[in-house]
Amino acid sequence: MHVYINNRLIPESKAKVSVFDHGFLYGDGIYETMRAYEGVVFMLDEHIRRLYRSASLIQLAIPKGAAEIKSAIHKTLKANSLKNAYIRITVSRGSGKIGLDPALCEKPTFIIITNEFKDYPASFYKKGVRLIISSVKRNLKEAINPQIKSLNFLNNILAKIEAKKKKAYEALMLNSQGHLTEGTICNVFFVLKKKNKSVLCTPSLDCGILDGITRNIVLELAKKHGITTKESKFKKEDIYRASEVFITNTTMEIMPVCKVDSVSYQVGSVTKLLHEAYKENVRAYLAKVG
Ligand code: PLP
Repeated sequence: MHVYINNRLIPESKAKVSVFDHGFLYGDGIYETMRAYEGVVFMLDEHIRRLYRSASLIQLAIPKGAAEIKSAIHKTLKANSLKNAYIRITVSRGSGKIGLDPALCEKPTFIIITNEFKDYPASFYKKGVRLIISSVKRNLKEAINPQIKSLNFLNNILAKIEAKKKKAYEALMLNSQGHLTEGTICNVFFVLKKKNKSVLCTPSLDCGILDGITRNIVLELAKKHGITTKESKFKKEDIYRASEVFITNTTMEIMPVCKVDSVSYQVGSVTKLLHEAYKENVRAYLAKVG
């Protein structure tokens, strides 16, 4: 595989950044993850927009325009003969003297890593994955804006370590007020039955979560299919009494959940309907953009 680093495609074994890069030293940088289906990068404009938003929130000027970034992605996919791919753009503050001041760095480091997209195990979608509610709290939104997709992932990594210890696939984090937020790399949804009607619930943005691109699509698809949605502040007891739970992100799409802590769930009709609708939405996007 070749890695795109600052305008050049470099063989993976030689792809290196400086030990003085502030992304490495301080986690000073941002990133974006995308998925390509049959050579088409799904929701490319939205991901690039979010990359610029993250950059602007840390006052990092990306040294490329959107068209240039798109062309660099396609160049990297082509160099690696990839059609179904995982794509990660990382932009760090760049290399500079030791010290937190961003002005110490002359220019940002811009990297695109691509890889063949490996399907998640089919059993994950058929049976669902296990989650825990982590004892690690989500970073305070007033301390670090969750809309910054930053290179600082320790909060989420600590939650992931706890999940792995408990043999779970993913961890959901609560915020400091005890409200549900999101997983370490995903948003969360659950279905509550109200007078026999299904209500699709998800934590609202003010709980301190990333406004996931997949999350937005799911909310739109639910509305389109007549499913009532509710974005609000929820407690863990709400998810414990749900009839269905699923998690979402760009690579996993909609992944059913079979257990949260000791509570079990079926892969239910709302999850199945929305995942089918999501796949149809991807197909329509490919037909339009591809
Ligand atoms: N929440 C967090 C913390 C994430 O890291 C991600 C994805 O990376 C998501 C949610 C889901 O975002 P998206 O649907 O845009 O991939």
